[in-house]
Amino acid sequence: MSLIVQKYGGTSMGSVERIRNVAQRVAKWHAAGHQVVVVPSAMSGETNRLLGLAKEITPHPDSREQDMLAATGEQASSALLAMTLIAKGVPARSYTGWQVPVRTDSAFTKARIKSIDDERIRNDLDAGRVVIVTGFQGIDEEGNITTLGRGGSDTSAVAVAAAMKADECLIFTDVDGVYTTDPRVVPEARRMGVVSFEEMLELASLGSKILQIRSVEFAGKYQVPVRVLSSLTDPFIPLEEEMASGTLITFEEDHKMEAAVVSGIAFSRDEAKFTLRAVPDTPGVAYSILGPIAAANIDVDMILQNLSVQGTTDFSFTVNRNDADRTNELLSKQIGPAVGAGEIVYDSKVAKVSIVGIGMRSHAGVASTMFRALSQEGINIQMISTSEIKTSVIIDDKYMELAVRSLHKAFELDQDKTQSAG
Ligand code: ASP
Ligand code: MG
Repeated sequence: MSLIVQKYGGTSMGSVERIRNVAQRVAKWHAAGHQVVVVPSAMSGETNRLLGLAKEITPHPDSREQDMLAATGEQASSALLAMTLIAKGVPARSYTGWQVPVRTDSAFTKARIKSIDDERIRNDLDAGRVVIVTGFQGIDEEGNITTLGRGGSDTSAVAVAAAMKADECLIFTDVDGVYTTDPRVVPEARRMGVVSFEEMLELASLGSKILQIRSVEFAGKYQVPVRVLSSLTDPFIPLEEEMASGTLITFEEDHKMEAAVVSGIAFSRDEAKFTLRAVPDTPGVAYSILGPIAAANIDVDMILQNLSVQGTTDFSFTVNRNDADRTNELLSKQIGPAVGAGEIVYDSKVAKVSIVGIGMRSHAGVASTMFRALSQEGINIQMISTSEIKTSVIIDDKYMELAVRSLHKAFELDQDKTQSAG
């Protein structure tokens, strides 16, 4: 008997028919003697619908009330799933985050999980029930309902799995695993049987939308084995087959011995690039520019400072596009005048393309292969940043898909080089 946490995304819960399918799959695991905790998302479109209503009321809804509202989506889908199971003769019970409770901090709309009390869940499991816990939400110290940020059900599921020391956390979604890149951009993209935790962390933070990044951080911190797999397969497929499908996020690097140097390519249009022209090139300038940005809680991603010409320099950096307006305001009203910058240029037509692979640690020349592939397509690189296991470039966003396709080819990601099965 194992303890399995299963998360089902919005598409998987998207209709009564789909919920029946989920119930069928859960019933199969339960009948095989496993303890199952299910963490569902809201039915697809529901969270958007609720947040849309809030925006119709007022452009800046009170964040406590927004969480109060958004959390209902998961309450509904969880109850529907429990009913479906009970109607099939499978004992089941659903709980909201606050009933468990899942304790979080008080950062409404982006709260972080602090602890999970598993007593109630354990009692139900011991009584033979399937337990359903709403994704995406918890309760703070003052008893307010909080939500974990968009896509937060992934994090709920991994956190529940960590708290309960589950044998595996299965993330059921509308794709059948993690791919070398988005198959909608590169049809030859391949599903990876395994991906290392560190690579997954980079891919999630660099634009892959498969898992909420915090869920990957949680998996890493508590060493939770996470598998991403499809909920759209036949729910009756044998358990062994199901457990061998999808992509396993692994903490062992052995399987990578023979693996490709680059494992995946991520991309994102969520970038905004700012340039301050003709900034005096004196000590402390970078701090004077980026200090106030950091103080406003805005994450700066890439930074580029040009060589000084006649004592001045151009200073560029990128932020998430969501923070572009605030950054622009800070630069034009406060920072620009304070450092004596010339023109301030805002470019939103940029994209970030990144290659990721733990093999990059031990192989030289990976970045140059990347730059060659881009130059052969005539794509200009505006900024570059590297870490041990990734290289990212900022390019004109109209070349993003071309860049991804040519890099996928240059690193032969359409060919399976891993030795191990998933
Ligand atoms: N329902 C929430 C959202 O749409 C949480 C989730 O689905 O993971 O973001
Ligand atoms: Mg999701």
